[in-house]
This record gives sequence, structure tokens and C-alpha cells, in this order.
Amino acid sequence: MSLRFQALNYLSVDNNETSVPPSLKVTSIFGENVFTLEKARSFLSDEGYKSLVASIKGGKKIDRNMANQIAAGLRQWAESKGVTHYTHWFQPLTGTTAEKHDSFFTLKSDGTAIEEFDGAALIQQEPDASSFPNGGLRATFEARGYTAWDPSSPAFIMDIGTGKTLCIPTVFISYTGESLDYKAPLMKALEALNKSAVEVCNYFDKNVTKVTPTLGWEQEYFVIDEALFNARPDLVLSGRTVFGHSPAKGQQLEDHYFGSIPERTYAFMRDFEQESYKLGIPLRTRHNEVAPAQFECAPIFEEVNLAVDHNTLLMDVLDRVARRHRLRVLLHEKPFAGINGSGKHNNWSMATDTGVNLLAPGKTPKTNLMFLTFFVNTIKAVHDYADLMRASIASASNDFRLGANEAPPAIISVFTGQYLSKVLADIKERVGDKFDEQDEAILKLDLHRSIPEVMLDNTDRNRTSPFAFTGNKFEFRAVGSSANCANAMTVLNTIMAETLKTFKKDVDALIEKGEKKEIAIMHVIREYIVASEKVLFEGDGYSDDWEKEAEKRGLENIKTTPKALDAMVSPKAKKLFESNGVYTHPELEARHEIELEKYIKKVQIEARIMGEMATSLILPAAIKYQNTLLQNVKGLKEVGLDAGTYGPQKYILEKISSHIAIISDKVVEMIEARKKANALTDTREKAIAYCDEVKGKYFDVIRYHVDKLELMVDDKEWTLPKYRELLFLR
Ligand code: ADP
Ligand code: MG
Repeated sequence: MSLRFQALNYLSVDNNETSVPPSLKVTSIFGENVFTLEKARSFLSDEGYKSLVASIKGGKKIDRNMANQIAAGLRQWAESKGVTHYTHWFQPLTGTTAEKHDSFFTLKSDGTAIEEFDGAALIQQEPDASSFPNGGLRATFEARGYTAWDPSSPAFIMDIGTGKTLCIPTVFISYTGESLDYKAPLMKALEALNKSAVEVCNYFDKNVTKVTPTLGWEQEYFVIDEALFNARPDLVLSGRTVFGHSPAKGQQLEDHYFGSIPERTYAFMRDFEQESYKLGIPLRTRHNEVAPAQFECAPIFEEVNLAVDHNTLLMDVLDRVARRHRLRVLLHEKPFAGINGSGKHNNWSMATDTGVNLLAPGKTPKTNLMFLTFFVNTIKAVHDYADLMRASIASASNDFRLGANEAPPAIISVFTGQYLSKVLADIKERVGDKFDEQDEAILKLDLHRSIPEVMLDNTDRNRTSPFAFTGNKFEFRAVGSSANCANAMTVLNTIMAETLKTFKKDVDALIEKGEKKEIAIMHVIREYIVASEKVLFEGDGYSDDWEKEAEKRGLENIKTTPKALDAMVSPKAKKLFESNGVYTHPELEARHEIELEKYIKKVQIEARIMGEMATSLILPAAIKYQNTLLQNVKGLKEVGLDAGTYGPQKYILEKISSHIAIISDKVVEMIEARKKANALTDTREKAIAYCDEVKGKYFDVIRYHVDKLELMVDDKEWTLPKYRELLFLR
């Protein structure tokens, strides 16, 4: 029996022992497996605790002696929870997390066995990580990289699967200081933003000394049965189905969106939520998405650094817990053709240490001017660096989603909502480009009146915009579900840092000329509105009209990753990242190279899977059925029946034979195209060849004919689980 039928059998017989986790109060388990400050308080000496707090709050360096104390406290806590191993947990550019487990256990020089974890082991590790992607960086600089403790993200215990491990969040860098992971540049970008945002805040409030960007992500994912998953080599190896005809029923009824969560999935959700709570991930919402078997979860927003760690951790938890329930979570952006893809909306704002959300409209003219400042600067930043925003979300898997008709387009635009677009138009019109008597009145009265304090209006939402204002935050919707948010957040916070710096210069220049501060700010705001008008779009982002309109406006619409990535290494990008201390030029070049290589590998793997599945699974099934038909037609002819009786069979036979021929030819041609691409030495050219010559020329064609066969070949002979089974059975 083929795996497909074994899986179907298993689903109907063996599947009713769903273990529902006990209902626990969230507050009773929240943060249980996290070394929170509260726990630090009881496990550390006064000195050790103070040093840890100073390093978290003010980025102060921890000395070796203190590190020893903190490490001892950490070990004590971890051992009290049954932990025997620890690992430096980091986020390499492969997109998953990495761990290398070491035991607390060690031998003293006289051979006595002891448990030990000292400051050196806490602060720095040298994982044997030479096989992580480095874009040639370490070859040029240093042979090895090391992981360094990031005290701003608390240590935690991973307790899913076998064994408990103390995980220490770290950044991964080369010996000469180049970042090799997602976290190091992100932290630099957050610091850059902090600096320029504080300076701008001080126009309005001298008490602000720190600005922290915030992130609330929304994670979409699919859940399918494990046995069915295992019967699909494409899902196992690439995370998406390279073949599969749309089911008779897809998502057109939208009944899944409004429906209740299926029981087995519900048990899984409760389970992963509880594990997440223990890890301090503040999940709050869960619901069904539009596509069958698609779901979403979202936490309460946090500081970007922590939110990124929590999302990365959650993706890991989802995968581990799903296996306990014999389910599989698909984080791929487009696991099923013709069915909605998955995104990861990044809700972003900035908060001051005085407790103000800088993207929330205020009560008074002054706070509204501050809101408008940050609001308009964000629009300007996106306008000026739209190409980098696009590059920050580019990946082989997100290419299947962006620009497709249920996902944001590859064109970067900003949605502000009806109300604020009126306000912006108003400012442009009334403030004008001249400084005059009216300015004072506009400042005092109109700015106050024009923006209501609470603007969270759910009806005024544009679901088709890649970057939308939603009342008190921007929502970067084009981020892919499998992505590490750090990439998008590094870019967004850096371009914002840069724009705010320029804003400060522009305002100061006017003040120096003798303009009043507020008037100067209002005029620069106006200038920025005018300068970034073309990126504002309130209409339907999924429509063809928008593509045409965007082209007229001169907005870019880059649909494929290899070209979208060019923006990373443009002179403009290099200047931006260098002057904000986020990436050096070699770091950018290296990252660009790594992204291109990742792209090539992903497409290469898919091409191989397609070829192999077509030849070893699809064609044999089709040929078997072809033979049956052949026998049938021959037999009918032999006994002397006329063409009317074997005509229909002959017709099917011809069709099947033609699909078989095309698939077989195209697979051979695709292999040739791959060989040609492989021969190219320039990484960018190779990536483009994989994109245009391999994927572009063959994926859809081969799939088309395979999917046609799926509809014709005897169902008994078809060995791959079909969409209707993958999506509707659980
Ligand atoms: P929705 O947009 O679905 O109506 P919410 O507005 O409550 O729901 O929030 C959506 C997401 O935005 C949540 O993940 C939430 O944590 C996040 N969010 C809310 N406020 C902020 C903020 N100031 N900064 C960052 N994220 C935020
Ligand atoms: Mg949302």
C-alpha cells in the first residue's frame, strides 16, 4: 500500500487519542522557564543582580568577576529545574535557530566529576560553526566566529522533546567583529533609532532619554496531518507542494475563516500556547485564517529585540509541539498553490521612556505635532528607501506570495487611512511653502482639531497595502511567514533613524534662520509630505490598475528576489547602513551574497524534487494507467467492436500520453537549464538564471501537466496525498 493510503487509513482508524493539555491559568505558568529579573533577584547576589540590571537597562559591560557570579546563579536556577545542559542560542542567517549543547558536567584536574558553568562560558562561546553561511566574510577576515551573550534577552529553558536545556540568547560574530547573524545588526539598528528619535523627541519633551521600537508580529501557519505530510516528499524537503491540483472545494466558501477550530488542532494550539507562556511569549490571539487548515497567532507587542527572539522561539516551539500531536506546521509562505499564502505582519511603533507611543495621536496641539512628526517621518523613510524595504522581505518562498492576488504586491506603498490622508492633504494645502501669519493659527487650532485622539477605526482598514497605518502603529504586511522579523526590522529602524536625523538637521536649519521651533517643524513636515506623496496609496493594492498607476508614479515593482536584493548593495544603502553603524560595506556585500546563495539553493532543491517526483512517482502512475487503457482499447478493437465503443478511452489515452511526453521532455530540459545555471560563476547571474531559466521556464509548465494527470489517472494509482486530503482531513 502506498504511503498515501497508509496515511489515510491511519487518519480514519488511529486518530482519536488526541491528548488535550490541562487548562492552566496563564498567570500561573507565564515565564516559568525564563530567567526573569524576579528570578535573578533571588538567585543572584545584590552585586550580581545590580550588574545584570545595569547591563540590561543601560547596556553596561559586565566584568569577568560579575559574570562568574551571574553564571553561578543561572546554573543554580537551571539545575533546580532539572537542567543538565546549556547552549548559546543564536539566529544564524540560515533562518532557523542554532544551538550547540554543552554539559555543565566537567572533570577537575584530579579526575573528580563536577558541575560547572563559569562566566567565560556564559559570555562567550566558540561554536564549531564554520558551516553557517558567512558570504565569504570569515574567509577574508577570520576563520571562526563566536557567540556573545546578549543580556537584554533573558535566558530560558527549552523543555520540549527530550531533555531540558538552558538557552542563552547570543549574537554571532566573527573575531574581527563582523556580524554573522540576524541579531547583531538588529541591535545596532535599534540603537541608531534610539539616538535619532530621542533627539527629535526632545523638541517636544526634554524628559525623553530613551526611545524603544516596539513590534507585535502576527504569525500565520498551516497545520496538516503528519502521516500525510510524510507521504509528500516535496513538503518534507521544501516545505511546499510543488504539485497538486486545486480541490473541488477550496476556500471559496470562506467557511474555515468563520468556523470553529478543529478539535485536534485546538489541542495542539492549547499545548503550544502553554509552552509559549512558560517561555514568556505573551500570546494573546488565535484564530482561523481564510484558507482551510490555516491559522494565526499573535502576541502582545514587545520591544523589538525581545519580540524577534520570541517569534524565532515560537516558530521552533510550533514545530516541536506539532510533532507531539502527530501534526506538522508549515511556515512556508505558499505551501499550496491557489490557496492563500501565509504572512507575518509586523506591527511596529516606537515608545518613549516617558510612556508615550510616538505613533499614537495625542490630545493637545503639541502632542499632535509630535505624532505628526513621527508619522510623516515614517512615510518619508519608506518613500526614500522603498527598495530596501522590498529587499528586506525578499526570499525564494516569499516570491510565491508577493504579487500573487491574495498577498500584498511587490510594490511598496503606504496606506494612511481616510482621515489622515485628509490631514496630510490639509497640511500641504494650508501651511503652504511660505512662512506667514497663518502658521501660528494652524498650529494652535487646526492641528489640534484635525486629529481625534482615538482613531482606531476598524472599518478604515486596507488589507491590500504592504505597509499600513492602523491607528497607533504601522503594519508591515509584506513580511513572509517563515522570515526572521529581524531583517525587516533592521531595515525599518535604520531608515527611520536616518530620516529622523535629516529631519533634525532640516528643522535646526530653520530655527537658526530665526523661525519658531514649532513653526519650523510644521514646515519641514509639510515639505516631507510633498516629497513623499507618490508612495501614498489608499486604493486596492491587489488590482491591475495599481500596477499601472504605480508604474506611472515611478514606483518600483520588482517581483523576484535576485533583483530585489540589488538594493542591499547600492551606494545609497551602503552609505545609509554605514553612517548609522549597522552594517559595514563588507558586511552588506557578504549578506547580499548569502541571500543570493540561499535563493539559489532553495530553487535548486525544488527543481530537483520536481524532477524526481515527476519521474519516479507521477510518470509511473500515469504509465500504469496508460497501459490499462491501452489494453482496453486494443481488446475492444480485437473483438471487432467499432470505433464508437473505444473512442472515449482512446481519447483519454491520447491526452494522458501527451501529458506524459511533455512532462518527460520538460524534466530533461529543466535539468539542462540547471546545469547551465550551475556553470555560472557570478552569484547574482546564477540566481537570476535559476529564477528565469529554471523556475520561470519550467516550474509552472511541469506542474500544469502533472496536475492534469492527477485529475485523470486512476485515483488508486496516485501515490501523493491530494490537496483535499492535506487540507481537509485531520
Ligand atoms: P488588530 O490589528 O488585529 O485589530 P491590534 O490592533 O490589537 O489588533 O493589534 C495587532 C497587533 O499589533 C498585535 O500583535 C499587537 O500586539 C500589535 N500592536 C499593538 N500596538 C502596538 C504598538 N504600539 N507597537 C507594536 N505593535 C503593536
Ligand atoms: Mg493585523
